[in-house]
Amino acid sequence: MRVVKSLKSPLNRLFIYETDDGYRVESVFYKGERLCVSSQVGCPVRCAFCASGMFGLKRSLKAEEIFAQYGLLKGELPVKGVAIAGIGEPSANADEVIKAIKLFKEEGLKVTVSTTGYPLEGFKKLMRAPHDGLTISVHGISEEVRKRVFGVEIPLTEVLKALEEYFKEASSSRRKKFQLGYLLIKGLNDSRQELQKLGELAKRYRMTVMLMAYNEVEGIPLKGLTEEEYEKAFLTLREMGVRVTLSNRFRRDKLGGCGTLTIAREVER
Ligand code: SF4
Repeated sequence: MRVVKSLKSPLNRLFIYETDDGYRVESVFYKGERLCVSSQVGCPVRCAFCASGMFGLKRSLKAEEIFAQYGLLKGELPVKGVAIAGIGEPSANADEVIKAIKLFKEEGLKVTVSTTGYPLEGFKKLMRAPHDGLTISVHGISEEVRKRVFGVEIPLTEVLKALEEYFKEASSSRRKKFQLGYLLIKGLNDSRQELQKLGELAKRYRMTVMLMAYNEVEGIPLKGLTEEEYEKAFLTLREMGVRVTLSNRFRRDKLGGCGTLTIAREVER
């Protein structure tokens, strides 16, 4: 694995790596302290809004390759934490992701993971892994909306059943490490009704909602919300008494956005 290119914006840095067999993945260094790394080449989930999953899955990365995205930059950047939230679905490569989490922890780094919960088997393992935070990216509550968001079937009832089972055995401090992720797409998952369902869910499990703004991607005909609409969505949840965090300027930067990892068009060998 080697770094073949790096791009810089005033807020973030993006690194493109080539694996020994010629595939490309990328990481983003944001907030001047966190590195968001990839767990797969391409992604099996193929979210409608995501450039990274556009071509499906090419192959999963080994733990060493996930770790190398940090290892190759170590010394050059002041990395304090790692987010396994770049290209790929961590639950679809759970065993290697868990090994990578352990490697990062040995370096004294905090590790967070984002997952859609697909597939369930991997999700169950990841929940129990020694991470410092896990975001369940729901992006839709009703199955009708979720079918339009995800390229594979991920029944929310099953994801929640697995979560409930884990919460029964988890301590309250451990449960606090879980949150819900929701990327707002205009006309797709931003209706008041859908947001109210999200709020009810968050309250039921006492989870914070990370409400993310969408960075539009060339070639994908979906749009994000205006500032005003974004604030309105935030207020809908806040008025229900839900804890909500919003995308900061680093995430909204063109090199920092969710699902906009530019390498997607280069995953072909
Ligand atoms: S958003 Fe994440 S899970 Fe969805 S296709 Fe992109 S990389 Fe995969």
